[in-house]
Amino acid sequence: MYISDKFLSISPSPTLAIDSKFKQMKADGLDVVGFGAGEPDFDTPQHIKDAAIKAINEGKTKYTPASGTLELKKAVCDKLLRDNKLCYDTNQIVISNGAKHSLVNVFGAILNPGDEVIIPAPFWVSYPEMVKINDGVPVIIPTLEEDSFKVTAEQIEEKITPKTRAIVINSPSNPTGMVYTKEELEKIAQVALNHHIYIISDEIYEHLIYDGSHFSIAQISDDVKDLTIIVNGVSKTYAMTGWRIGYTASNPTIAKVMSNVQSHATSNPNTIAQVAAVAALNGPTDDLEVMKKAFAERKEYMADRINTLPLVSCTKPNGAFYIMMNIKNVLGKKYKGVLIDSADKFAEIFLEEKLVAVVPGTGFMAPEYVRWSYATSYENIKEGLDRLEKFLSDLSE
Ligand code: PMP
Ligand code: GLU
Repeated sequence: MYISDKFLSISPSPTLAIDSKFKQMKADGLDVVGFGAGEPDFDTPQHIKDAAIKAINEGKTKYTPASGTLELKKAVCDKLLRDNKLCYDTNQIVISNGAKHSLVNVFGAILNPGDEVIIPAPFWVSYPEMVKINDGVPVIIPTLEEDSFKVTAEQIEEKITPKTRAIVINSPSNPTGMVYTKEELEKIAQVALNHHIYIISDEIYEHLIYDGSHFSIAQISDDVKDLTIIVNGVSKTYAMTGWRIGYTASNPTIAKVMSNVQSHATSNPNTIAQVAAVAALNGPTDDLEVMKKAFAERKEYMADRINTLPLVSCTKPNGAFYIMMNIKNVLGKKYKGVLIDSADKFAEIFLEEKLVAVVPGTGFMAPEYVRWSYATSYENIKEGLDRLEKFLSDLSE
């Protein structure tokens, strides 16, 4: 059987793998608690659902332009102006089937074989694979918890070669929850300007910052904005993960080539979901505020409790809905005689024995951590941490 070497080299998404394992175990009747995929446990707000139902009833069920409807592009431009003080024209916006799809398009648009993309680690699992799908080479910069998992301009500078095309900035970050300050972003942007490399700014968690507010790197100057490709979507802010709408804001040339490819690959993002996304972006934010308040309370509880337990710890995050739990001191211990020598083993035994699903840090290039999502109910969080406490007390040398 002939299969592309390139596709064979792509590993499946570990976050989605954990989530589907969790869902299968639940369907099998097991009392499993899931902290895997980052997906708000809140329902999509009613006014958004109503807009979609209305669209169906009015027959808005046909193809749209490949890069999205003008209404949705206008809603995105209005959002960028309102929330980020950034002025874009509709020909700079491409709507795709989720921010994940947007990102694949972006790497496809800017990379030629062998081109390098700098990705600070811990990173969201999909970035390196997306680069590889597009014949690029991921160049990873490890960061440390004691530096708040943040990359510095100097570290980026050291990794730049004549083949560097872009750096990925994800603030707030999945998986670390850290948020870059304006000053930190200014320094990073200066490196991008000096070397004329693109900044891929994944801002999907922009509304989930608990102290302070979001600053987009594109806001620094017009020159930085020209080099920046903003990636965002409605999945996290409006609890719309299943609707699959993401978007990019970039210079019009990049937007055009992405739209051309999309016209062959997917025709257009789902028409009904596009109508729903207009309602989301133009609508009230009350539901978002309720969700954010709940996330903030859960984060405090989860982080404080983890930090009272033996062997594990975490740095309290300021954004997104993830906590990276440091398990350095667990590695080398045994559970019922089985050695826990990696984050994968920890996650595997914790799931099998205590029925708690967390994501091992391996896929984020954080081998001494596991990721908990707190986009789940307080009851689940309490139960998950009770089971963690028991699990830790069962460990032996
Ligand atoms: N970027 C980051 C950092 C994410 O965590 C996610 C989560 N799925 C995405 C992009 C993609 O979001 P979606 O495709 O659901 O819009
Ligand atoms: N981004 C979410 C996560 O990290 C959803 C799963 C995925 O798309 O990877 O869990």
